[in-house]
Amino acid sequence: MADCVFCKIAAGEIPCKKAYEDEEVLAFHDIHPEAPVHILLIPKAHVAAGAAEIDESNSAQVAGCLVAAARLAKELGLTEGFRLVTNNGPHACQTVPHLHFHLLAGKQMRAKMD
Ligand code: 5GP
Ligand code: ZN
Repeated sequence: MADCVFCKIAAGEIPCKKAYEDEEVLAFHDIHPEAPVHILLIPKAHVAAGAAEIDESNSAQVAGCLVAAARLAKELGLTEGFRLVTNNGPHACQTVPHLHFHLLAGKQMRAKMD
């Protein structure tokens, strides 16, 4: 999609620090990390603006992101745990309207989510 920063990253038009890639999924390090490990997992295709648009048509890409997150957690040795988050809409402070999941780890996080 034109003017979508994550589509541009997926197309290689904007550089990123890649953590994982397959045919449908790209994982890369967040430019403003909020934890020692902060990786974004995106479907390469612009299949949804956010979690509110998840449905049967894009569930394979969603599953691909989640499988990749678990695989990365194993590869990176995140045995103390991790948080997998997706923000949808203004109340959740979503800033990039291309479905993505944040994989956060490497520090003790707060029990409260807000
Ligand atoms: P959101 O706020 O939409 O849930 O998350 C968007 C995330 O994308 C933010 O954590 C932000 O730091 C990250 N981000 C925005 N633009 C870029 C970029 O060009 N490169 C990388 N690596 N991360 C980005
Ligand atoms: Zn996009």
